[in-house]
Amino acid sequence: MDATGGIVTVKDSAWFMSYGIKRQPVFKTQKPDDMITWVYGLYSDRPGDFIKKLITECTGNEIVQEWLYHIGVPESEIPTMAAESAVGIPCMMPYTTEFFMPRTDGDFPDVVPEGSVNFAFIGQFVHNPRDPVFTTEKSVRTGMEAAYTLLDIERKVPEVFGSVYDVRNLLQSIPILSDGRKISDMKLPLPDKMKLMEMLKMTEGTEAEDLMREYGLL
Ligand SMILES: Cc1cc2nc3c(=O)[nH]c(=O)nc-3n(C[C@H](O)[C@H](O)[C@H](O)COP(=O)(O)OP(=O)(O)OC[C@H]3O[C@@H](n4cnc5c(N)ncnc54)[C@H](O)[C@@H]3O)c2cc1C
Repeated sequence: MDATGGIVTVKDSAWFMSYGIKRQPVFKTQKPDDMITWVYGLYSDRPGDFIKKLITECTGNEIVQEWLYHIGVPESEIPTMAAESAVGIPCMMPYTTEFFMPRTDGDFPDVVPEGSVNFAFIGQFVHNPRDPVFTTEKSVRTGMEAAYTLLDIERKVPEVFGSVYDVRNLLQSIPILSDGRKISDMKLPLPDKMKLMEMLKMTEGTEAEDLMREYGLL
């Protein structure tokens, strides 16, 4: 199997399983024919579809079996393939979802709290505007901000990629998320499709139309 690029989610799986295959080798010491795959499940309170157990009660081998089932390996071949061709190493990450818990201003400290001259907060659980959690960039930026501020160094922290606020990034992601389809080819309920066509008519000859063409929506 080739690299999956991003993560593939098996949205109907009972564990809400996802997997990702990065370009190999993942580890320098990895043997040339080995492939490292990352598989995870978000629902730990429901039995699996093939392995009728909670993911938290499963061995690595059982998690591999559930994954093989979801990628379409014939059921009769699953146990042997999992036993002879794979090694599953389970790992619980109970704090990972902590990143995504709702929060409000003041829950996280500023990188350099007001008045501080010799200490700062760095990492994920820190407030720095616009930076998304769960990225190595956020950790790096908070470290830079801490060092530059406390040491009074005149350097700017690299800007946050405009994935949320820059309309060009948003437009670009639409066809990518739709398997390269143009918006007119997207499968939509008839009323929505009619509204979309109406909207497209309104953009004719405008800059919005140019942008949509440039980013492959039209
Ligand atoms: C499953 C998973 C997938 C991810 N995928 C991505 C991704 O694709 N792209 C991306 O950008 N980000 C991803 N992230 C997020 C990213 O890995 C983290 O945000 C980033 O590694 C945090 O870096 P950090 O240096 O702030 O903290 P950590 O990497 O958590 O480093 C903190 C270190 O401090 C040590 N430590 C803790 N307490 C003490 C103590 N008392 N004394 C001494 N040392 C201590 C810990 O052992 C650890 O080594 C992922 C995270 C997870 C869990």
